[in-house]
Amino acid sequence: MTLSLQGWHLDETAAQLTLQVTVTRARVRCPLCHVLTPRVHSRYSRILADLPWGPYTVRLHLRVRKFFCDQPACARRIFTERLPTVAAPWARRTLRLAQRLLASGLALGGEAGTRLAARLGLATSPATLLRLVQAASAPASPAPRILGVDEWAWRRGQRYGTILVNLEDHQVLDLLPERSAASLVAWLAQHPTVTIVCRDRSALYADGIRRGAPTAVQVVDRFHLVQNLREAVEACLHDQQPALQAAAARTAQALTQQVGAVASPALYRGRHHSVPVQQQQQEAAQQQRHAAWVATYETVQRLHAQATPVTVIAQQLGLSRPTVYRLLRRTTPSPPRSPQRSGQVLRPYMAYLIRRWREGITDSMQLWRELREQGYTYSTRTVSRFITRLRQASAAGWAPETQTSPYTRPQGPSARAVSFTWVCPEAKRTQDAPLYVDQLTQAEPVIAQAYTLSQAFLTLVRGRWGADLAAWITAVSASGIAALARFAQGLQEDLTAITAGLTLPWSNGPVEGQVNRLKLLKRQSYGRAGVGLLRQRMIQAV
Ligand SMILES: [Zn+2]
Repeated sequence: MTLSLQGWHLDETAAQLTLQVTVTRARVRCPLCHVLTPRVHSRYSRILADLPWGPYTVRLHLRVRKFFCDQPACARRIFTERLPTVAAPWARRTLRLAQRLLASGLALGGEAGTRLAARLGLATSPATLLRLVQAASAPASPAPRILGVDEWAWRRGQRYGTILVNLEDHQVLDLLPERSAASLVAWLAQHPTVTIVCRDRSALYADGIRRGAPTAVQVVDRFHLVQNLREAVEACLHDQQPALQAAAARTAQALTQQVGAVASPALYRGRHHSVPVQQQQQEAAQQQRHAAWVATYETVQRLHAQATPVTVIAQQLGLSRPTVYRLLRRTTPSPPRSPQRSGQVLRPYMAYLIRRWREGITDSMQLWRELREQGYTYSTRTVSRFITRLRQASAAGWAPETQTSPYTRPQGPSARAVSFTWVCPEAKRTQDAPLYVDQLTQAEPVIAQAYTLSQAFLTLVRGRWGADLAAWITAVSASGIAALARFAQGLQEDLTAITAGLTLPWSNGPVEGQVNRLKLLKRQSYGRAGVGLLRQRMIQAV
C-alpha cells in the first residue's frame, strides 16, 4: 500500500537482492500541524535491510522525499516523510526485521540470540541485539491493582533487588536494582492504582508499602508463613534428637511387622569385607566440611553477640540472610550428616532390588546385571553395598524395606527432615512418613502437642481461616513450647497483614515462578547482564 517496486537487482556472488522502491502516495501530512501538503522539496535515498528471501539477503533501496509545509501558522518549514509501517525514522533496517531480532534478543540474550538469528538468515551481532532490547519500550499493560513484592538475588548473600509482579495476570511489572523501602515507596507513588500488596515478612517492605501506598491492604504471603513455621518446628525438634532416633527404631519394627522380615540367606564367607578406601576418603571430606560449618556457626553467634547487624554478618561470611537467621535460631550447631552409603543413584532401583531379595535372589553380581538391563549405568560396588545392608538387616530380623527409608535408619532422621515432613500435606508424604510421625507422637507428649499445634496452623493456612488465628496464638503461648511460642510472638507483631494473608486469596506463588525465571535468565547471560537488560527481558516476555 505504501511502497512501489521500481526495479530489482540480483547479485549472485554476494547472494544479495536489492529492491528499488519508491513511496506511492502523492501528498503527505506535516508531522507538526498534520495538514496535507503536495509540494516536494527534494529526494534522497535510504538503504534498509529487510527479511531474507530464501538464501538471499534483501535490502531496500528506498527513494524518500522532503516536503515543504506551507501552513503560515506552522513552525516546521521542511520535513521528511515518515513511514511508520516500514521503518523507524533513522533506522537502517525495516520494522519487521527489527521485531524479529528483538524477539530473538529478548528470548535468548545477546550471544545465543545472535546464533539463533544467524540460523534464521538474519545477520546481526550481540551488541546490536542488546541495543534493540535496551531500547524496546514496555508493552502496554493494564494499571496494576494487586501487587506481589519479593526480593531477588544479584549475588546470593551479597546484593539483592526487588521484583514486582502483577498478581492478576502474573506479568512482571518491574525489577528494581535494590532491596530498599525507599525504592518501593517511589515505585508505589507512580502506581496509585495498587490496592493490595502481597509481601514476605520483612519489616523493610512493610515500611515501604506503608509509606508508598498508605491505603493499600498488606498481605503476608502464605508460603513464607509455612516456611517460618517449619523453621520453628525444626528448632523445637532439634533438642529432641534421642526421641527422633528412638522413633526410627520403633518405625523399623512396625514396618517389619507390616511387611514381614526375610530369612537371612547363607552368607558367602570367602570374601574379606573391608571399608573401601574411597568411602573412607568421602567420610573424611565430610567431617572437614562439618568442622568448617561448626566454625561458621560459632562466628555467626559471636558476631551477633557483639551486636553486629545480620546484613553485615551475611556479607562478611558470604552467607544469605536466611542462613544467618537459621544459624542464630539454633542453640547448638547441627550434627554431621550421615554419609550416603548406598548413593542416590540406586534409589530408583531399590524397590526392584527388595522384590528380588524377597524372591530369594541375593547375588549382587546377578542383581547388578539385571539392573543394567533396566538402564542402570553405575558400579557393581554400589549395588553390592546395598545388598550387604539387606543381608545385615535380615540377620537382625528387620524387613529389607527398612533399608530404603530415612525414617528407619539407626541414627534416625534429622530434625530438619522431620520438620519438612510435618509441613508437607498428608497426601503428599512418602510411604513411611505417616508411620514415623505416629511412632514419634505416641511416645512423646510434648512432641505430640507440637505436632497438633503445627497441623492446626497449617489448617488455618490451607483453609484460609484467618479469623481463628488469635485463638491459635493463645493456645501456642499457653503450651510452653518455646520455639513455637517465639513463632507465635512474631506473628503477633505483624498480625493485621498475616490475618489478611490467611483470609484473602492472594499469594506470591506467581512471584516465586518469576524469580525462578529470573535465575534462569541470569545463568544464561553468565552473570554479565546489567539490571537494565534483565529488567527488559523479564518485563517483555516473548
Ligand atoms: Zn506543518
